Amino acid sequence: MNAIDIKSLDAVLHQCIHCGMCLPVCPTYNLTFQEQSSPRGRIRLIRSVQDGTMGLTDEFVEEMNFCLDCQACQTACPAGVQYGVLVEDARRQIAEAKKEPLHLRFLKYFFLRVILGSKRRTKLFGRFLKLYEASGLRDAIEQSNILTLFSEKLHAKHLLLPRASGEFFDDEIAEVLAPTGPKRGTVAFLSGCIMNVSFADVHRDAVEVLRTNGFEVVIPKLQVCCGSLHGHNGDVVMAKKLAQKNLDVFGTFEFDALVIDSAGCSAFLKEYGMLFADDPKYASRAVELSNKTKDITEFLVDVGMRAPTKPLKVRVTYHDACHLVHTQKISEQPRQIIRSIPGIEFVELPESTWCCGSAGMYNVTRFDDSMKFLERKMNNLASTNAEIVVTANPGCHLQLQYGIRKFGLNMEVVHPVTLLRRAYG
Ligand code: SF4
Ligand code: SF4
Repeated sequence: MNAIDIKSLDAVLHQCIHCGMCLPVCPTYNLTFQEQSSPRGRIRLIRSVQDGTMGLTDEFVEEMNFCLDCQACQTACPAGVQYGVLVEDARRQIAEAKKEPLHLRFLKYFFLRVILGSKRRTKLFGRFLKLYEASGLRDAIEQSNILTLFSEKLHAKHLLLPRASGEFFDDEIAEVLAPTGPKRGTVAFLSGCIMNVSFADVHRDAVEVLRTNGFEVVIPKLQVCCGSLHGHNGDVVMAKKLAQKNLDVFGTFEFDALVIDSAGCSAFLKEYGMLFADDPKYASRAVELSNKTKDITEFLVDVGMRAPTKPLKVRVTYHDACHLVHTQKISEQPRQIIRSIPGIEFVELPESTWCCGSAGMYNVTRFDDSMKFLERKMNNLASTNAEIVVTANPGCHLQLQYGIRKFGLNMEVVHPVTLLRRAYG
């Protein structure tokens, strides 16, 4: 998928023909069976706000936040309504009018602005996590269940915290890495925010897989968080600020493709063109970068990846991250990568495209709802008897890890590139 077509919000809103084909695939509608919790119902609410017949009421705020922004409705929609654009703009209006409850505004401000607003502070948070883990306090608190004395939810949210990587990815890696064989091209690589401090091992696997496939990898040191969590949560100002910095930084390098190993981030980079549509300085550069952006699973299949030869004798299933399958329409490529590995017994996960409830910050801001989606996902996972569940997004990765622990399954959560690197030996 290339950059999303630039359409005015009004045009998108009027594309909806109210057919209702999106209702059966909507996880929130399937919880309540209330029209206002469905894509069609939410589009009606957004139109009412747009034409001035309704204000940013508490009901409106509640429905926009109850939505997972999973975009399953986009996949089902015969009229091609880009629902994600609508809900994200509604969230922007809500944020700008400060209509959310105070505790939510504080939480979003702290996470999106204080922690993810600068790379230095994200790393500071990562160092805090490292110290917390190295002191033994984190494990002691987890194992003693002491937080349940205050609240079960606090205990669960503590378990959902990402773990810090031993070394942050961009602290240890060179800015330019040569391919390990004959050169096929040059790719840029996004180190991101949470991936950089908590999933350094996945990034290392991704880079090694790219080098093994003949690509020089450029990892600009000055790049920052892509802004996807900000954009999805209504903080468009910060999303644009971060995106501008990335456009400036990546613009100083020559590369054939920008390769990304986090579904939420690759989806958002493909939206940079739309984000800067009205900006004379950045519009064309943003479209150019969006068009060069590839999720790593998509890229490897497009270029014809080296066949893995080391057999892995494991039973594997695959969970589709929403921002990969629904936003980017990438579902076959990760399966193709898994199936290419000799020895693997691949089993389809029932309802693999149903959101796991992670949805960016959703499992923190709407913990109870998130757990309902997670339980459904875990029941499906248990039915596969798989030893490994593969997924390509950090939010899903953490949510599935938490669910596996909570529901007592015996399963490892693995990124497609990690599995591939194992099979490259
Ligand atoms: S499927 Fe598309 S056109 Fe039909 S109601 Fe849902 S959003 Fe509207
Ligand atoms: S994005 Fe997901 S939760 Fe929101 S309306 Fe669409 S299908 Fe439902």
